[in-house]
Amino acid sequence: MKLLEERIQKDGVVKKGNVLKVDSFINHQMDVDLFNAMGEEFKRLFADHPIDKILTIEASGIGIACIVAQHFHVPVVFAKKSQSINLDGESYVTKVESFTHKRVYDVIVSKKYLNEGEHILIIDDFLANGCAVNGLIDLIQNAGALVEGVGIAIEKGFQVGGQLLREKGIRVESLAIVESMNDETGEIFFRAQEHQS
Ligand code: 5GP
Repeated sequence: MKLLEERIQKDGVVKKGNVLKVDSFINHQMDVDLFNAMGEEFKRLFADHPIDKILTIEASGIGIACIVAQHFHVPVVFAKKSQSINLDGESYVTKVESFTHKRVYDVIVSKKYLNEGEHILIIDDFLANGCAVNGLIDLIQNAGALVEGVGIAIEKGFQVGGQLLREKGIRVESLAIVESMNDETGEIFFRAQEHQS
């Protein structure tokens, strides 16, 4: 998606440790018009998929997921990161290693909000090694629901997450795929994606 790539070129900051900072339009201050354009593009890309619900993970996925959901007219459920083990049996639980915080969280969704047979679209801000998305897939499968696809704002294509998901046959659409980036020069290169706007 050219609009997003241009914005990353303009306002993204490449940090050490393979981290791309996009605080001025996604992760701290949020550009809602940009999110809206992203929602329109996800709707076009997943037009042939039945979507009953969007699933994301707190905190940074929630804003994007809500705006995207306005294009699908479905509810958004966000998985919660929990410090304590949840043993009440009322929730689906999985473990996710955080790329940015380098620690492992229990991630939970109430059994009330993920149901057998539902068609789920996963939305998140970044795809790196795929830990967050794989955790969400685990929750969906525990519920007996179906993963219709994964919609990501920014994929770091030089990390393994996207490739592993696509090899499993999961439809992954990332609106910008960073092929490489350099924290010394600040340069960012994107993978060409002809099927996107
Ligand atoms: P993964 O679980 O795929 O390894 O990492 C994805 C999660 O880590 C996303 O939910 C995102 O919040 C965070 N993340 C991973 N890489 C980056 C990055 O380069 N920049 C930012 N801002 N967040 C990232």
